[in-house]
Amino acid sequence: MRSAWRGVTTTPKRSAPSHLPAKRLLKLKEMFYSKFGSIPKFYVRAPGRVNLIEQDMLIAAEPVKTHTIQLANTNPLYPDFSTSVNNIQIDKTKPLWHNYFLCGFKGIQEHFGLSNLTGMNCLVDGNIPPSSGLSSSSALVCCAGLVTLTALGMNLSKVELAEICAKSERYIGTEGGGMDQSISFLAEEGTAKLIEFSPLRATNVKLPSGAVFVIANSCVEMNKAATSHFNIRVMECRLAAKLLAKNKGLLWGEVLRLEEVQAKLGVSLEEMLLVIEDALHPEPYNPEEICSCLGISLEKLRTQILSPNTQDVLIFKLYQRAKHVYSEAARVLQFKKICEEAPDNMVQLLGELMNQSHVSCRDMYECSCPELDQLVDICRKFGAQGSRLTGAGWGGCTVSIVPADKLPSFLANVHEAYYQRNARSLPPEKQSLFATKPGGGALVFLEA
Ligand code: ADP
Ligand code: MG
Repeated sequence: MRSAWRGVTTTPKRSAPSHLPAKRLLKLKEMFYSKFGSIPKFYVRAPGRVNLIEQDMLIAAEPVKTHTIQLANTNPLYPDFSTSVNNIQIDKTKPLWHNYFLCGFKGIQEHFGLSNLTGMNCLVDGNIPPSSGLSSSSALVCCAGLVTLTALGMNLSKVELAEICAKSERYIGTEGGGMDQSISFLAEEGTAKLIEFSPLRATNVKLPSGAVFVIANSCVEMNKAATSHFNIRVMECRLAAKLLAKNKGLLWGEVLRLEEVQAKLGVSLEEMLLVIEDALHPEPYNPEEICSCLGISLEKLRTQILSPNTQDVLIFKLYQRAKHVYSEAARVLQFKKICEEAPDNMVQLLGELMNQSHVSCRDMYECSCPELDQLVDICRKFGAQGSRLTGAGWGGCTVSIVPADKLPSFLANVHEAYYQRNARSLPPEKQSLFATKPGGGALVFLEA
Protein backbone atom coordinates (compact mmCIF):
# COMPACT_ATOMS: atom_id res chain seq x y z
CA MET A 1 0.00 0.00 0.00
CA ARG A 2 2.74 2.43 0.92
CA SER A 3 4.34 2.29 -2.49
CA ALA A 4 1.21 3.82 -3.91
CA TRP A 5 1.94 7.05 -2.17
CA ARG A 6 5.68 7.08 -1.84
CA GLY A 7 5.94 7.84 -5.55
CA VAL A 8 7.26 11.16 -6.70
CA THR A 9 4.59 13.25 -8.31
CA THR A 10 6.93 15.36 -10.32
CA THR A 11 8.09 12.83 -12.86
CA PRO A 12 6.22 14.37 -15.76
CA LYS A 13 4.18 12.22 -18.09
CA ARG A 14 4.72 12.92 -21.74
CA SER A 15 1.12 13.34 -22.74
CA ALA A 16 -2.12 14.44 -21.16
CA PRO A 17 -4.23 11.94 -19.18
CA SER A 18 -6.92 10.50 -21.41
CA HIS A 19 -9.85 12.03 -19.52
CA LEU A 20 -8.80 15.58 -20.44
CA PRO A 21 -10.63 16.60 -23.62
CA ALA A 22 -8.35 17.63 -26.50
CA LYS A 23 -10.54 20.68 -27.07
CA ARG A 24 -9.96 22.00 -23.56
CA LEU A 25 -6.20 21.55 -23.91
CA LEU A 26 -6.11 23.23 -27.29
CA LYS A 27 -8.05 26.20 -25.97
CA LEU A 28 -5.64 26.48 -23.05
CA LYS A 29 -2.60 26.32 -25.33
CA GLU A 30 -4.01 28.96 -27.67
CA MET A 31 -4.98 31.31 -24.90
CA PHE A 32 -1.55 30.86 -23.29
CA TYR A 33 0.03 31.86 -26.59
CA SER A 34 -2.15 34.92 -26.95
CA LYS A 35 -1.42 36.00 -23.34
CA PHE A 36 2.28 35.26 -23.10
CA GLY A 37 3.49 34.86 -26.71
CA SER A 38 4.91 31.37 -26.13
CA ILE A 39 3.89 27.72 -25.83
CA PRO A 40 3.49 26.23 -22.32
CA LYS A 41 6.47 24.14 -21.19
CA PHE A 42 4.33 21.88 -19.02
CA TYR A 43 0.86 21.37 -17.58
CA VAL A 44 -0.34 20.40 -14.11
CA ARG A 45 -3.75 19.11 -13.17
CA ALA A 46 -5.12 18.57 -9.68
CA PRO A 47 -8.55 17.20 -8.79
CA GLY A 48 -11.13 18.56 -6.38
CA ARG A 49 -12.22 16.70 -3.30
CA VAL A 50 -14.90 14.23 -4.25
CA ASN A 51 -12.29 13.68 -6.82
CA LEU A 52 -14.26 13.96 -9.95
CA ILE A 53 -12.80 12.50 -13.03
CA GLU A 54 -13.61 15.35 -15.31
CA GLN A 55 -13.49 18.26 -12.98
CA ASP A 56 -10.16 19.63 -12.05
CA MET A 57 -7.81 22.54 -11.94
CA LEU A 58 -5.50 22.66 -14.93
CA ILE A 59 -2.55 25.04 -15.23
CA ALA A 60 -0.40 25.60 -18.30
CA ALA A 61 2.97 26.95 -17.22
CA GLU A 62 6.31 28.20 -18.41
CA PRO A 63 9.28 29.24 -16.27
CA VAL A 64 10.72 32.63 -17.31
CA LYS A 65 14.06 34.38 -16.77
CA THR A 66 12.60 37.37 -14.95
CA HIS A 67 11.52 37.22 -11.31
CA THR A 68 7.89 37.90 -12.05
CA ILE A 69 4.90 35.60 -11.71
CA GLN A 70 2.24 36.39 -14.29
CA LEU A 71 -1.11 34.74 -13.77
CA ALA A 72 -4.02 34.60 -16.14
CA ASN A 73 -7.28 32.66 -16.03
CA THR A 74 -9.45 31.30 -18.81
CA ASN A 75 -12.47 32.48 -16.81
CA PRO A 76 -12.88 36.27 -17.24
CA LEU A 77 -14.29 36.46 -13.70
CA TYR A 78 -10.74 36.00 -12.45
CA PRO A 79 -8.59 38.97 -13.55
CA ASP A 80 -4.92 38.82 -14.60
CA PHE A 81 -2.38 39.31 -11.86
CA SER A 82 1.35 39.74 -11.62
CA THR A 83 3.80 40.03 -8.75
CA SER A 84 7.50 39.88 -8.06
CA VAL A 85 8.56 36.51 -6.60
CA ASN A 86 10.32 38.45 -3.86
CA ASN A 87 7.26 40.23 -2.64
CA ILE A 88 4.53 37.65 -2.15
CA GLN A 89 1.65 39.22 -0.24
CA ILE A 90 -1.37 37.14 0.70
CA ASP A 91 -4.17 39.29 2.02
CA LYS A 92 -6.19 37.27 4.54
CA THR A 93 -9.02 39.75 4.49
CA LYS A 94 -9.68 39.44 0.76
CA PRO A 95 -9.48 35.93 -0.68
CA LEU A 96 -8.90 36.99 -4.30
CA TRP A 97 -8.30 34.06 -6.63
CA HIS A 98 -4.60 34.68 -7.22
CA ASN A 99 -3.98 34.43 -3.47
CA TYR A 100 -4.78 30.71 -3.60
CA PHE A 101 -2.11 30.32 -6.28
CA LEU A 102 0.33 32.29 -4.16
CA CYS A 103 -0.37 29.99 -1.19
CA GLY A 104 0.91 27.02 -3.22
CA PHE A 105 3.87 29.01 -4.51
CA LYS A 106 4.83 30.25 -1.06
CA GLY A 107 4.53 26.77 0.45
CA ILE A 108 7.21 25.42 -1.91
CA GLN A 109 9.36 28.53 -1.63
CA GLU A 110 9.41 28.27 2.15
CA HIS A 111 9.88 24.52 2.23
CA PHE A 112 13.15 24.82 0.35
CA GLY A 113 14.06 28.14 1.98
CA LEU A 114 14.60 29.67 -1.44
CA SER A 115 14.68 33.33 -2.30
CA ASN A 116 14.78 35.07 -5.65
CA LEU A 117 13.13 32.20 -7.50
CA THR A 118 12.73 32.48 -11.22
CA GLY A 119 9.37 33.73 -12.35
CA MET A 120 6.75 31.97 -14.41
CA ASN A 121 3.81 32.54 -16.68
CA CYS A 122 0.74 30.53 -15.82
CA LEU A 123 -2.69 30.18 -17.29
CA VAL A 124 -5.28 28.60 -14.99
CA ASP A 125 -8.30 26.72 -16.26
CA GLY A 126 -10.55 25.26 -13.57
CA ASN A 127 -13.93 23.62 -13.92
CA ILE A 128 -14.62 22.57 -10.34
CA PRO A 129 -17.70 24.54 -9.19
CA PRO A 130 -16.17 27.15 -6.85
CA SER A 131 -17.20 27.54 -3.20
CA SER A 132 -19.33 24.41 -3.44
CA GLY A 133 -17.61 22.00 -1.11
CA LEU A 134 -15.68 20.17 -3.82
CA SER A 135 -12.53 21.96 -2.77
CA SER A 136 -11.71 24.06 -5.79
CA SER A 137 -9.54 26.11 -3.45
CA SER A 138 -7.29 23.21 -2.46
CA ALA A 139 -7.14 21.98 -6.05
CA LEU A 140 -5.80 25.42 -7.01
CA VAL A 141 -3.32 25.55 -4.12
CA CYS A 142 -2.08 22.01 -4.87
CA CYS A 143 -1.86 22.68 -8.58
CA ALA A 144 0.14 25.86 -7.93
CA GLY A 145 2.44 24.02 -5.52
CA LEU A 146 3.15 21.35 -8.10
CA VAL A 147 3.63 23.96 -10.85
CA THR A 148 6.21 25.75 -8.68
CA LEU A 149 8.01 22.52 -7.81
CA THR A 150 8.15 21.50 -11.46
CA ALA A 151 9.34 24.93 -12.59
CA LEU A 152 12.18 24.61 -10.07
CA GLY A 153 13.07 21.14 -11.30
CA MET A 154 12.81 19.80 -7.73
CA ASN A 155 11.23 16.64 -6.34
CA LEU A 156 9.03 15.82 -3.40
CA SER A 157 6.88 12.85 -2.44
CA LYS A 158 3.12 13.15 -2.72
CA VAL A 159 2.85 13.04 1.05
CA GLU A 160 5.33 15.91 1.44
CA LEU A 161 3.51 17.93 -1.20
CA ALA A 162 0.17 17.32 0.50
CA GLU A 163 1.57 18.42 3.86
CA ILE A 164 3.14 21.55 2.42
CA CYS A 165 -0.03 22.55 0.59
CA ALA A 166 -2.27 21.83 3.60
CA LYS A 167 -0.11 24.18 5.63
CA SER A 168 0.22 26.84 2.98
CA GLU A 169 -3.51 27.05 2.20
CA ARG A 170 -3.85 28.45 5.73
CA TYR A 171 -2.20 31.67 4.44
CA ILE A 172 -5.60 32.44 2.93
CA GLY A 173 -7.02 32.61 6.46
CA THR A 174 -8.91 29.30 6.73
CA GLU A 175 -7.67 26.95 9.44
CA GLY A 176 -8.22 23.83 7.36
CA GLY A 177 -7.04 20.33 8.26
CA GLY A 178 -5.34 18.62 5.35
CA MET A 179 -7.94 16.30 3.93
CA ASP A 180 -8.51 18.13 0.67
CA GLN A 181 -4.86 18.62 -0.21
CA SER A 182 -4.07 15.02 0.73
CA ILE A 183 -6.65 13.48 -1.54
CA SER A 184 -5.74 15.87 -4.35
CA PHE A 185 -2.25 14.32 -4.40
CA LEU A 186 -2.83 10.80 -3.09
CA ALA A 187 -5.94 9.90 -5.08
CA GLU A 188 -5.82 6.87 -7.35
CA GLU A 189 -8.20 5.99 -10.09
CA GLY A 190 -10.74 3.31 -9.19
CA THR A 191 -10.43 3.41 -5.41
CA ALA A 192 -11.71 5.64 -2.64
CA LYS A 193 -9.20 6.51 0.08
CA LEU A 194 -9.36 6.64 3.82
CA ILE A 195 -7.13 9.57 4.80
CA GLU A 196 -5.50 9.51 8.23
CA PHE A 197 -3.06 11.92 9.81
CA SER A 198 -0.01 11.90 12.08
CA PRO A 199 1.54 10.47 10.02
CA LEU A 200 -0.38 11.23 6.85
CA ARG A 201 -1.45 8.05 5.10
CA ALA A 202 -4.08 6.95 2.61
CA THR A 203 -5.67 3.50 2.57
CA ASN A 204 -7.68 2.09 -0.32
CA VAL A 205 -11.37 1.57 0.28
CA LYS A 206 -13.23 -0.45 -2.31
CA LEU A 207 -16.61 1.12 -3.00
CA PRO A 208 -19.64 -1.07 -3.74
CA SER A 209 -19.97 -2.06 -7.39
CA GLY A 210 -23.77 -1.95 -7.52
CA ALA A 211 -24.05 1.72 -6.59
CA VAL A 212 -22.88 5.09 -7.81
CA PHE A 213 -22.09 8.28 -5.97
CA VAL A 214 -23.90 11.29 -7.33
CA ILE A 215 -22.94 14.90 -6.70
CA ALA A 216 -25.66 17.55 -6.75
CA ASN A 217 -24.90 21.23 -6.28
CA SER A 218 -27.33 23.17 -4.08
CA CYS A 219 -26.06 26.25 -5.93
CA VAL A 220 -25.54 28.14 -2.70
CA GLU A 221 -21.95 29.38 -2.77
CA MET A 222 -19.99 29.91 0.39
CA ASN A 223 -16.44 31.17 0.26
CA LYS A 224 -14.71 29.70 3.28
CA ALA A 225 -12.08 32.42 3.53
CA ALA A 226 -14.43 35.38 3.13
CA THR A 227 -16.68 34.31 6.05
CA SER A 228 -15.95 33.17 9.58
CA HIS A 229 -18.28 30.11 9.75
CA PHE A 230 -15.54 27.67 8.88
CA ASN A 231 -12.97 29.04 11.32
CA ILE A 232 -15.55 29.32 14.13
CA ARG A 233 -16.06 25.55 13.91
CA VAL A 234 -12.31 24.93 13.92
CA MET A 235 -11.97 27.13 17.01
CA GLU A 236 -14.90 25.44 18.77
CA CYS A 237 -13.22 22.08 18.19
CA ARG A 238 -9.91 23.47 19.37
CA LEU A 239 -11.48 24.79 22.57
CA ALA A 240 -13.43 21.57 23.13
CA ALA A 241 -10.16 19.63 22.76
CA LYS A 242 -8.48 21.87 25.32
CA LEU A 243 -11.33 21.57 27.81
CA LEU A 244 -11.49 17.80 27.43
CA ALA A 245 -7.72 17.54 27.84
CA LYS A 246 -7.79 19.73 30.95
CA ASN A 247 -10.68 17.73 32.38
CA LYS A 248 -8.71 14.52 31.92
CA GLY A 249 -5.59 15.95 33.53
CA LEU A 250 -3.60 16.19 30.30
CA LEU A 251 -1.30 19.06 29.35
CA TRP A 252 -3.83 21.04 27.38
CA GLY A 253 -1.66 23.95 26.25
CA GLU A 254 -0.32 22.24 23.16
CA VAL A 255 -3.52 20.37 22.27
CA LEU A 256 -5.19 21.70 19.11
CA ARG A 257 -7.30 18.86 17.74
CA LEU A 258 -9.91 16.54 19.19
CA GLU A 259 -8.07 13.58 17.70
CA GLU A 260 -5.02 14.39 19.84
CA VAL A 261 -7.06 14.06 23.03
CA GLN A 262 -8.27 10.63 21.96
CA ALA A 263 -4.73 9.56 21.05
CA LYS A 264 -3.31 10.82 24.35
CA LEU A 265 -6.00 9.02 26.34
CA GLY A 266 -5.60 5.91 24.21
CA VAL A 267 -9.34 5.22 24.09
CA SER A 268 -11.84 4.45 21.33
CA LEU A 269 -14.06 6.99 19.60
CA GLU A 270 -17.06 5.50 21.40
CA GLU A 271 -15.34 6.06 24.74
CA MET A 272 -14.59 9.65 23.73
CA LEU A 273 -18.32 10.17 23.27
CA LEU A 274 -18.77 9.16 26.91
CA VAL A 275 -15.93 11.44 28.02
CA ILE A 276 -17.77 14.36 26.37
CA GLU A 277 -20.94 13.61 28.36
CA ASP A 278 -18.90 13.84 31.49
CA ALA A 279 -16.68 16.80 30.71
CA LEU A 280 -18.77 19.19 28.59
CA HIS A 281 -22.32 20.55 28.89
CA PRO A 282 -24.76 21.00 26.01
CA GLU A 283 -25.46 24.65 26.88
CA PRO A 284 -23.26 26.95 24.82
CA TYR A 285 -20.13 28.35 26.46
CA ASN A 286 -19.28 32.02 26.53
CA PRO A 287 -15.67 33.27 26.42
CA GLU A 288 -15.67 34.02 30.18
CA GLU A 289 -16.63 30.46 31.09
CA ILE A 290 -14.01 29.03 28.75
CA CYS A 291 -11.38 31.27 30.32
CA SER A 292 -12.35 30.21 33.81
CA CYS A 293 -12.31 26.50 32.86
CA LEU A 294 -8.83 26.85 31.42
CA GLY A 295 -7.63 29.39 33.98
CA ILE A 296 -6.57 31.94 31.39
CA SER A 297 -7.35 35.59 30.64
CA LEU A 298 -9.68 36.78 27.88
CA GLU A 299 -6.67 38.45 26.33
CA LYS A 300 -4.82 35.13 26.14
CA LEU A 301 -7.88 33.38 24.69
CA ARG A 302 -8.15 35.96 21.92
CA THR A 303 -4.52 36.38 21.01
CA GLN A 304 -3.11 32.92 21.59
CA ILE A 305 -5.94 30.51 20.85
CA LEU A 306 -8.51 32.10 18.53
CA SER A 307 -7.86 32.97 14.87
CA PRO A 308 -7.95 36.63 13.80
CA ASN A 309 -11.49 36.33 12.38
CA THR A 310 -13.02 34.60 15.43
CA GLN A 311 -11.89 36.92 18.21
CA ASP A 312 -15.31 38.49 18.68
CA VAL A 313 -17.34 35.28 18.79
CA LEU A 314 -19.50 35.17 21.94
CA ILE A 315 -21.00 31.68 21.81
CA PHE A 316 -19.14 28.40 21.51
CA LYS A 317 -21.04 25.11 21.25
CA LEU A 318 -18.27 22.83 22.43
CA TYR A 319 -20.35 19.78 23.37
CA GLN A 320 -22.17 19.61 20.02
CA ARG A 321 -19.06 20.14 17.88
CA ALA A 322 -17.04 17.52 19.76
CA LYS A 323 -19.89 15.06 19.55
CA HIS A 324 -20.12 15.57 15.80
CA VAL A 325 -16.40 15.15 15.23
CA TYR A 326 -15.98 11.93 17.22
CA SER A 327 -19.19 10.37 15.92
CA GLU A 328 -18.28 11.31 12.33
CA ALA A 329 -14.83 9.76 12.76
CA ALA A 330 -16.53 6.59 14.04
CA ARG A 331 -18.85 6.57 11.00
CA VAL A 332 -15.87 6.86 8.66
CA LEU A 333 -14.38 3.71 10.20
CA GLN A 334 -17.72 1.92 10.05
CA PHE A 335 -18.01 2.90 6.38
CA LYS A 336 -14.63 1.36 5.64
CA LYS A 337 -15.50 -1.80 7.58
CA ILE A 338 -18.73 -2.25 5.63
CA CYS A 339 -16.84 -1.79 2.36
CA GLU A 340 -14.33 -4.46 3.41
CA GLU A 341 -16.92 -6.95 4.59
CA ALA A 342 -19.26 -6.24 1.66
CA PRO A 343 -22.46 -7.68 3.17
CA ASP A 344 -25.48 -8.16 0.88
CA ASN A 345 -27.23 -5.06 2.18
CA MET A 346 -24.05 -3.01 1.93
CA VAL A 347 -25.51 -0.14 -0.09
CA GLN A 348 -28.31 0.26 2.42
CA LEU A 349 -25.86 0.25 5.37
CA LEU A 350 -23.57 2.79 3.72
CA GLY A 351 -26.59 4.93 2.92
CA GLU A 352 -27.71 4.88 6.54
CA LEU A 353 -24.29 6.09 7.65
CA MET A 354 -24.42 8.92 5.12
CA ASN A 355 -27.87 9.92 6.38
CA GLN A 356 -26.63 9.91 9.97
CA SER A 357 -23.72 12.10 8.87
CA HIS A 358 -26.05 14.63 7.38
CA VAL A 359 -28.19 14.80 10.51
CA SER A 360 -25.10 15.29 12.62
CA CYS A 361 -23.76 17.99 10.26
CA ARG A 362 -27.13 19.72 10.38
CA ASP A 363 -27.94 19.50 14.09
CA MET A 364 -24.63 19.10 15.89
CA TYR A 365 -22.10 20.84 13.68
CA GLU A 366 -24.67 23.24 12.21
CA CYS A 367 -22.91 23.49 8.87
CA SER A 368 -25.89 22.77 6.63
CA CYS A 369 -28.39 25.27 5.19
CA PRO A 370 -32.08 25.03 4.17
CA GLU A 371 -31.24 24.44 0.50
CA LEU A 372 -28.89 21.56 1.32
CA ASP A 373 -31.47 20.01 3.64
CA GLN A 374 -34.08 20.27 0.90
CA LEU A 375 -31.75 18.77 -1.71
CA VAL A 376 -30.83 15.87 0.58
CA ASP A 377 -34.53 15.14 1.12
CA ILE A 378 -35.21 15.23 -2.62
CA CYS A 379 -32.29 12.88 -3.32
CA ARG A 380 -33.56 10.38 -0.74
CA LYS A 381 -37.08 10.64 -2.06
CA PHE A 382 -35.95 9.73 -5.58
CA GLY A 383 -33.94 6.64 -4.82
CA ALA A 384 -30.76 7.55 -2.96
CA GLN A 385 -30.06 5.09 -0.16
CA GLY A 386 -28.26 7.90 1.61
CA SER A 387 -27.45 11.53 1.02
CA ARG A 388 -25.43 14.16 2.82
CA LEU A 389 -23.71 17.47 2.35
CA THR A 390 -20.09 17.22 1.23
CA GLY A 391 -17.21 19.54 2.00
CA ALA A 392 -17.31 22.25 4.61
CA GLY A 393 -21.02 22.95 4.17
CA TRP A 394 -23.17 26.10 4.52
CA GLY A 395 -23.92 25.55 0.84
CA GLY A 396 -22.29 23.67 -1.98
CA CYS A 397 -22.89 20.06 -2.91
CA THR A 398 -24.52 16.91 -1.62
CA VAL A 399 -23.23 13.42 -2.29
CA SER A 400 -25.72 10.56 -2.56
CA ILE A 401 -25.35 6.82 -2.86
CA VAL A 402 -27.69 5.55 -5.56
CA PRO A 403 -28.24 1.94 -6.70
CA ALA A 404 -26.84 1.78 -10.25
CA ASP A 405 -30.12 0.62 -11.81
CA LYS A 406 -31.93 3.64 -10.39
CA LEU A 407 -29.44 6.20 -11.69
CA PRO A 408 -31.30 7.44 -14.82
CA SER A 409 -34.61 8.00 -13.02
CA PHE A 410 -32.80 9.50 -10.03
CA LEU A 411 -31.02 12.08 -12.20
CA ALA A 412 -34.19 12.98 -14.10
CA ASN A 413 -36.33 13.33 -10.97
CA VAL A 414 -33.81 15.30 -8.94
CA HIS A 415 -33.27 17.59 -11.89
CA GLU A 416 -36.96 18.25 -12.12
CA ALA A 417 -37.60 18.58 -8.37
CA TYR A 418 -34.67 20.77 -7.38
CA TYR A 419 -33.33 22.47 -10.48
CA GLN A 420 -36.37 22.99 -12.66
CA ARG A 421 -38.64 24.07 -9.83
CA ASN A 422 -36.07 26.58 -8.64
CA ALA A 423 -35.03 27.53 -12.16
CA ARG A 424 -35.41 31.22 -11.67
CA SER A 425 -32.80 31.39 -8.96
CA LEU A 426 -30.37 28.85 -10.37
CA PRO A 427 -28.29 29.87 -13.37
CA PRO A 428 -27.95 26.90 -15.79
CA GLU A 429 -24.16 26.68 -15.57
CA LYS A 430 -24.44 26.00 -11.86
CA GLN A 431 -27.00 23.25 -11.99
CA SER A 432 -24.47 20.50 -11.64
CA LEU A 433 -25.79 17.03 -11.04
CA PHE A 434 -23.56 14.15 -12.05
CA ALA A 435 -22.37 10.68 -11.12
CA THR A 436 -18.77 10.48 -10.03
CA LYS A 437 -16.16 7.80 -9.54
CA PRO A 438 -12.74 7.92 -7.93
CA GLY A 439 -10.19 9.50 -10.28
CA GLY A 440 -6.44 9.94 -10.12
CA GLY A 441 -4.41 12.51 -8.18
CA ALA A 442 -2.39 15.53 -9.26
CA LEU A 443 0.10 15.06 -12.08
CA VAL A 444 2.38 16.86 -14.52
CA PHE A 445 2.48 16.35 -18.28
CA LEU A 446 4.44 17.95 -21.06
CA GLU A 447 2.37 17.94 -24.18
CA ALA A 448 -1.21 18.98 -24.67
P1 ADP B 1 -14.29 25.25 -2.24
O1 ADP B 1 -15.33 24.53 -1.45
O2 ADP B 1 -14.56 25.15 -3.72
O3 ADP B 1 -12.90 24.91 -1.87
P2 ADP B 1 -13.57 27.89 -1.18
O4 ADP B 1 -14.47 28.95 -0.68
O5 ADP B 1 -12.62 27.26 -0.23
O6 ADP B 1 -14.51 26.80 -1.87
O7 ADP B 1 -12.70 28.47 -2.39
C1 ADP B 1 -13.27 29.05 -3.51
C2 ADP B 1 -12.31 30.05 -4.15
O8 ADP B 1 -11.30 29.35 -4.92
C3 ADP B 1 -12.97 30.96 -5.17
O9 ADP B 1 -13.59 32.07 -4.54
C4 ADP B 1 -11.79 31.39 -6.03
O10 ADP B 1 -11.06 32.45 -5.43
C5 ADP B 1 -10.90 30.15 -6.02
N1 ADP B 1 -11.14 29.40 -7.28
C6 ADP B 1 -11.96 28.35 -7.47
N2 ADP B 1 -11.97 27.97 -8.78
C7 ADP B 1 -11.13 28.80 -9.42
C8 ADP B 1 -10.69 28.94 -10.79
N3 ADP B 1 -11.14 28.15 -11.76
N4 ADP B 1 -9.82 29.91 -11.07
C9 ADP B 1 -9.38 30.74 -10.10
N5 ADP B 1 -9.74 30.67 -8.82
C10 ADP B 1 -10.61 29.72 -8.47
MG1 MG C 1 -11.92 25.28 -0.02
